[in-house]
Amino acid sequence: MGFREMRRFRQQLSQEECEAILRRGTAGVLAVSGDEGWPYSVPLSYTYEGEKLLFHCAAAGHKLDALRRDNRACFCVIDQDKVIPEKYTTAYRSVVVFGRVSILEDEAELRRGGEALGRKYHPQGTPEELEKEISGSLGHMLILEMDISHMTGKEGRELAQAKNK
Ligand SMILES: Cc1cc2nc3c(=O)[nH]c(=O)nc-3n(C[C@H](O)[C@H](O)[C@H](O)COP(=O)(O)OP(=O)(O)OC[C@H]3O[C@@H](n4cnc5c(N)ncnc54)[C@H](O)[C@@H]3O)c2cc1C
Repeated sequence: MGFREMRRFRQQLSQEECEAILRRGTAGVLAVSGDEGWPYSVPLSYTYEGEKLLFHCAAAGHKLDALRRDNRACFCVIDQDKVIPEKYTTAYRSVVVFGRVSILEDEAELRRGGEALGRKYHPQGTPEELEKEISGSLGHMLILEMDISHMTGKEGRELAQAKNK
């Protein structure tokens, strides 16, 4: 089965806009197929590395068990959600990404992921500080790498109309 088209295509964001949102975002929600068919969505920090999203996580837990059973996942980042009370709506903008998640466990991969996340969240940090942080996490941290299969972005009508004026 392919991925769906967006019904309200006038509100669809370009690939460049989606990428910009993923770059400036600091957290999103990862949805997986959880225990006994229950969906499970969990908020996570991430970094966008062109066609891939990287996450770090503990070496055990609900999302990891789910991903080991089924590596398909969906990740959503909300860029903006400004309430416009008088219109009973919000000026929103978001990105939804589907992809398969690999669980990276060897040291070189953990370092690569840790460095990418470290550069995003603490760009002023020194290489020594980052190295200390990564070394301290080895052994109890894993990297999740989502290979992006499909990505869409959407903005609310108010934002789309303002853009087209
Ligand atoms: C903005 C933000 C950024 C985060 N960034 C990271 C990150 O980069 N890496 C990371 O590993 N974790 C991060 N967390 C924490 C993350 O949401 C999870 O709590 C954590 O990853 C453990 O997930 P798990 O499935 O292994 O939890 P488990 O402890 O195995 O989950 C067991 C149960 O606990 C509940 N639960 C777990 N997490 C949450 C939660 N956040 N809120 C409410 N209930 C919960 C659920 O019911 C779940 O079924 C972040 C949280 C927030 C809010």
